[in-house]
Amino acid sequence: MLERENYKALITNARRIVIKVGTSTLTHSTGKLNLQLIEKLVRQLTDLRYQDKQVLLVTSGAVGAGMGKLGLREKPKTMPEKQAAAAVGQGILMHIYEKLFSEYGQVVAQLLLTRPDLADRRRFLNARNTLLTLLNKEVVPIINENDTVVVEELRFGDNDTLGALVAGLVDADLLILLSDIDGLYTGDPRKDENARLIPVVEEITTEIQGLAGSEGSKFGSGGMATKISAAKIAINAGIPMVIANGSQPDIIREILMGAQVGTLFIPREVKPHARKSWIAFGSNIQGKLWVDDGARKAIITNGKSLLPSGIFKIEGIFTSGHVVSIVNSEDVEFARGIVNYNAQELEKIKGNQCKEIVNILGYKDYDEVVHRDNLALRI
Ligand code: GLU
Repeated sequence: MLERENYKALITNARRIVIKVGTSTLTHSTGKLNLQLIEKLVRQLTDLRYQDKQVLLVTSGAVGAGMGKLGLREKPKTMPEKQAAAAVGQGILMHIYEKLFSEYGQVVAQLLLTRPDLADRRRFLNARNTLLTLLNKEVVPIINENDTVVVEELRFGDNDTLGALVAGLVDADLLILLSDIDGLYTGDPRKDENARLIPVVEEITTEIQGLAGSEGSKFGSGGMATKISAAKIAINAGIPMVIANGSQPDIIREILMGAQVGTLFIPREVKPHARKSWIAFGSNIQGKLWVDDGARKAIITNGKSLLPSGIFKIEGIFTSGHVVSIVNSEDVEFARGIVNYNAQELEKIKGNQCKEIVNILGYKDYDEVVHRDNLALRI
């Protein structure tokens, strides 16, 4: 429980977010699109845009929607049949997204990718530049595999992998995989009533891999195994990933508020620049610390951590793990950082030497209020 809390800021500060939705989430068991769910999804994504987050949607459902339209009850077996279903379904899918997003005034774009688009450096950069341009223009890119034309050897095969590669392509801060299951369990929850949801995975061990099994659903091609493969790609690229249940109302909002839902995979190492940039530009500032000139110089010139002695005033209601703004005595912001103490604790220890912390609070978890690894300049 506590572990997940420690990683909260990774999620709540994410600005560029890739969300992948699976076929089983987007369609009813009849194969027809679940309009109510897609409606809710679109509303949540637009709401993120309104918070100035950048959103990329990786959507499955082309084959599923095509099946529904063509009246097919079972997943097509041959490649040409699948591709034909995708050709019918992709248009239906985009039509729905276009219609719903435009009700909120949100512009969307379609990108259909194949593996060589990301394998070749020049094409990779080209795809990246296109996506970054769309994000700059406040568009929500809607991405799927180009199922209709891609040949077997050049397929991503499943959109979990595609989602992770797209997250890497745009240096996303967070990847969310929405599925028809709450997250990774210690067993199969459909068969084993003792199966527990795993809230945090810090390392993908063989044991974790073993939990994945390989079963997918009737319409999608994923299952837990492809989600674990996606997690490997994401965490190696320094991107945290969450698996959660897409049929839960408001799931995306809950995840981004830092609620304990789904399974969070911790990146191996958040790339320093990526990490610092989400601290510096993450929109979720929960408070403000006023520091004296000595502390300001120590941070800016010597790259030091922020200690309680340099703080003379605090503002806001925050807990440890939140991002706060750091300002000079004239109220000019020069840095942001993740705090190790909550507002009440800081109110008591501000202006004091580190050695006093334990006398004042009765305990001491850290010397630093903001460690330099969690501090980013904004000058
Ligand atoms: N690209 C496929 C589709 O849109 C889905 C692949 C997957 O389910 O992972 O139908």
